[in-house]
Amino acid sequence: MSLVSGSTATLQKSNRFSTSPSTRTETVCSSSRHQKIRMQAPLEQGSMTAHHLASQGIESVDDWNARLAQRTAEKEETNRIVLSPDTPGEDKMHAQCKYIFKYRKTMFSCPHCWLLPGLCLCSRLAKVTTQCKMVVHVHFLEWGKASNTGSVIGVAVNDCEVLMKGLKEHDVRMKELFQDKSVTTAVLWPGDNSITPSELKKIAEERSEGRIAVIAVDATWGNALRMKTSYPPDTLYVKLTPESAIISEQQRSLLAPVRKYRGDYENNARVSTLEAVASLLYELEGSNETRQALLGNLKMKVDTCLIQKNRNTVYGTLTAEDFLQKKVEAVVMCS
Ligand SMILES: [Zn+2]
Repeated sequence: MSLVSGSTATLQKSNRFSTSPSTRTETVCSSSRHQKIRMQAPLEQGSMTAHHLASQGIESVDDWNARLAQRTAEKEETNRIVLSPDTPGEDKMHAQCKYIFKYRKTMFSCPHCWLLPGLCLCSRLAKVTTQCKMVVHVHFLEWGKASNTGSVIGVAVNDCEVLMKGLKEHDVRMKELFQDKSVTTAVLWPGDNSITPSELKKIAEERSEGRIAVIAVDATWGNALRMKTSYPPDTLYVKLTPESAIISEQQRSLLAPVRKYRGDYENNARVSTLEAVASLLYELEGSNETRQALLGNLKMKVDTCLIQKNRNTVYGTLTAEDFLQKKVEAVVMCS
């Protein structure tokens, strides 16, 4: 639920994933196939310039071919593990997550903001300091998507961890976070069984001298429900109140130009992770400056996604020309 949501197409894809090993293979392969098709023609025609290669984070055609060969080999090894009837389910999930963690949706995309290197936003996003610790818990189908907003929180918030469900080392880290008694941890989640931000603050005062950690689940609603089953039974859940800005002021998600949304926050959490987190932080900490900075980052992410898709921007935060001067710097920073 990018506390969230996600398109119907994504949800259907995730359902296929859970029932058929063969479609897992297809999905793991598909992004590399599209990437290869998109890049292969100009490579074979010899029309790709050094500048174009640099914008993709590639030093030369040989570099491109070497990295593609490495990724293909790792993809085949991942498929072998996933398709083997002898592999335990947990190991299949880990192998798949490990591959996606390393290569994301698009080869050479920035490992932090998940945009193409030439469009990397990391140095442009406004940085904010929060009293809360932030954790973004990401479903593997969401990991590496250019339009994802949890990745923006990871870059913008000073104390934020971005963890993938199913990657073993990240699962261990999630357990550590839930067991840490020095901080009161709550999952951002709508519903009647969730407490309000003011109730969370009271509990945190009693338990951990006011220290709070917030976990934002970044997945489609269906996948978020499945991820929730992995949390300890005594987990605290915190929701946005009806007075929250995201519910009372905004008519639709700012992410709508690049994601399909049907519904609202109160009924099925259909609002981007970043918007939900910005509202919760505002309710917990009261800084409108932080909220506006995070929403400004979201608009920048949407505009950049549209540029990446060769579409017109909608918020006027950036233009394709803005990136031309920054391409090489961005490549250096991402590598
Ligand atoms: Zn970046």
